Amino acid sequence: MCDICHMTPCDPRCPNAPEPQEVYTCKLCGEAIRVGDDYYEMDGEFYHEDCFEDNAVKILLDECGAMKGVAKEDG
Ligand SMILES: [Zn+2]
Ligand SMILES: [Zn+2]
Repeated sequence: MCDICHMTPCDPRCPNAPEPQEVYTCKLCGEAIRVGDDYYEMDGEFYHEDCFEDNAVKILLDECGAMKGVAKEDG
């Protein structure tokens, strides 16, 4: 039995509780995406939900060939 939470297995909030299994690695932050985390997948790459949503424009530019420009006069 755990000394801290007195449960077997540990309460998930206990500091002794094992981390959920690492399933993917986030391409943006390099941290693990664990069981129970929300994630996005694109072209075989995985992203935390928060990372993806915070960087959606950058990902489109980097990964999807999106272009940003300043419109100029035609001709
Ligand atoms: Zn515990
Ligand atoms: Zn991330």
